[in-house]
Amino acid sequence: MSLQSAHNPILLNPNRKMPKSIAIIGAGTIGPDIGYYLKSALPDLTLVLIDINPQALDKALGRIEAYVEKGLKRGKLTEQQAEAVRRNLITSTDYAALKDCDWVLEAATEDLALKRKIFSEIEAHVRPDALITSNTSSLPAERLFSHLDHPERATVTHFFAPAFQNPVVEVIDWTGADPQLGEYLRWFFGMTGKVPMVTTDAVCFMLDRIFDNWCNEAALLLDIASPAEIDSVAMELVHAGPFFVLNLANGNPIIVETNTVQAADEGDHYTPATIFNEVDKWETNPPGSPVPVAADVVQTIRDRLLGILFSQTVDIMDRNIGSAADLDLGCCLAFAFKKGPLELMRDYGAEEVARILNKFADYKPGMPQPKKPISAYLDFYRYILVDDVAGAKVITLRRPEAMNALHDQMTDEILSVIKNYEKDPTVKGFVITGYGIQAFCAGADIGKFPAMLGNQSESVAYAKGCSRLLVHLDHCPKPVVAALNGLALGGGLELATRCHALVARDNAWMQLPEVTLGIVPGIGAMVVPYRRWPLAADRFNRMLTRAEKLTARQAHEIGMIAEVVTEPQELIPAALRQLDNLSGHRHQITDSPVEIVAFEPSDGTSVTGQILSRDIIAIIEKTVAAAAKATSLNEALEIGYQAFGDSACTAAAREGISAFSERRKADFKKTG
Ligand code: NAD
Repeated sequence: MSLQSAHNPILLNPNRKMPKSIAIIGAGTIGPDIGYYLKSALPDLTLVLIDINPQALDKALGRIEAYVEKGLKRGKLTEQQAEAVRRNLITSTDYAALKDCDWVLEAATEDLALKRKIFSEIEAHVRPDALITSNTSSLPAERLFSHLDHPERATVTHFFAPAFQNPVVEVIDWTGADPQLGEYLRWFFGMTGKVPMVTTDAVCFMLDRIFDNWCNEAALLLDIASPAEIDSVAMELVHAGPFFVLNLANGNPIIVETNTVQAADEGDHYTPATIFNEVDKWETNPPGSPVPVAADVVQTIRDRLLGILFSQTVDIMDRNIGSAADLDLGCCLAFAFKKGPLELMRDYGAEEVARILNKFADYKPGMPQPKKPISAYLDFYRYILVDDVAGAKVITLRRPEAMNALHDQMTDEILSVIKNYEKDPTVKGFVITGYGIQAFCAGADIGKFPAMLGNQSESVAYAKGCSRLLVHLDHCPKPVVAALNGLALGGGLELATRCHALVARDNAWMQLPEVTLGIVPGIGAMVVPYRRWPLAADRFNRMLTRAEKLTARQAHEIGMIAEVVTEPQELIPAALRQLDNLSGHRHQITDSPVEIVAFEPSDGTSVTGQILSRDIIAIIEKTVAAAAKATSLNEALEIGYQAFGDSACTAAAREGISAFSERRKADFKKTG
């Protein structure tokens, strides 16, 4: 089975192992941040930092130490992890220190001639099999590496600030590279918590075409507004305005470099604003503190920022520089856009997008314009990846910012894939898994639910609406297997238990945390596990009323999970084995009533000692018992929906959901 072209990077079978030693050339703004990400993700890694400037190296060590201290203070690092980051951290001004490295990652000053010289020097010192990558923001791989003796082991891996937190890394697919290189790098980034995105070797790749031109347009607006005013208007679209971000990333010189390269290649309309050479730091307000701006100025700023955003977006799509889903997700993750540009275009509608683009074209002729109707850019799956593996459709839930939590659009995308292929004789079934190595699915977004508190019938209708995918799975003519790559919480677990078989990695675990929020799980958890694995009812009872966790191994022991694997790459093959075992049929959840043990008397607390709502526990106990006696699955599910509606009308639900939104612990002592 070949997974070489998989969209989900964890599915790839790389031809190399994890690196033991990586060097970073350039310890300025971003080099140390990349170093901290690598050392945090791979504690045993030897990290070599090289810079021509010894002071930069001292500062870099100081920065990494400051991150470690902060991590310790916030409880994000243990002493042991902190020690591992500090260990095997080497600095040098001498390229001879590269000789044993598996991978050299260049993050030196953005200058083509300098970088080419650096790569020649790297090649003179490293082993023949060592990888070489550049963190350039704009310079195509072809120009950086074509003079090397072995360009096939080199490409661009483009990080975004702050590189230890920002999950996005662009991996550039260029003609001189060994095709295995890109696959390996995507797998590596996927395995270390990043979100790799493949782009072509265009100047500025994909995401910086958005960001650099967005910043450049912001600078060109300075003759009508201040940086703080422009940032304030931009904050309608992004969490932090362009000038605030430029300060954070020391970005001014990079915009000058990148837009100069783009202007030379693609026309003067990309020329960087001269003010970038005159200003070091911008006077602006931080996110969340906008300044007032006159209405007519707001309109001009908004139209021009949207104009550049939409113009770059259609150009990226027309030239196939990257995928639509990556573009939208990348803008949200890398630049804190509130919505991706394509989603924004969908929201604004074709007419308004055309108005904005026409106005922008009048102001800046030469900037790209759409080559097809706007609607033709908007037809893609934004929240899932779909891979064809050995005759099955592997659907990966991809919302890394929300641990792959379900929401309406994601639910509809999964449903659309299943409906498209469930009658296709060439497809043997479906596997549903989560993106990354931490989460299968962290539940369902609470979405519109808070507005329904106190309204039984609306809450029931809401639960039924949220069940549409799960109910479809009950009747799907082809088998569907859940492949749990990590945690499965609440609605995520309800989705998994509706799949016809489950497999998991040994780090996966399950939980129904609803009771800690003063509600009940509404889309099957009080019904389905009992009908499928009735002998484990006592465990499900504790999961529902005490929020007890269930590990993959424990779930295997009770027969809920068919196979547990240790390595991420073993997970999908295990899921495919289950598809074969089901031999074309789904597992039918019984319509017959089930005999289950009663609940142990509750002490009213969760496994962590949190005081829970007695009212909610009573609803759960009553519902589970009634649903077990029901004479059909549908009748049992209906009992569950009604119970969800009942829970929405309790004081506990109001307190629990408010506490969740306010990021505090719920106090059920006062609600009962
Ligand atoms: P920087 O100017 O802050 O740091 C560059 C470092 O490279 C300096 O410490 C300098 O002394 C060192 N250097 C210069 N020549 C060298 C040589 N021959 N050998 C070793 N070290 C050398 O730049 P930066 O902002 O850290 O950016 C580095 C690279 O990363 C650039 O290509 C930039 O476009 C890219 N990038 C930066 C960011 C960011 O947020 N700053 C984001 C994405 C990509």
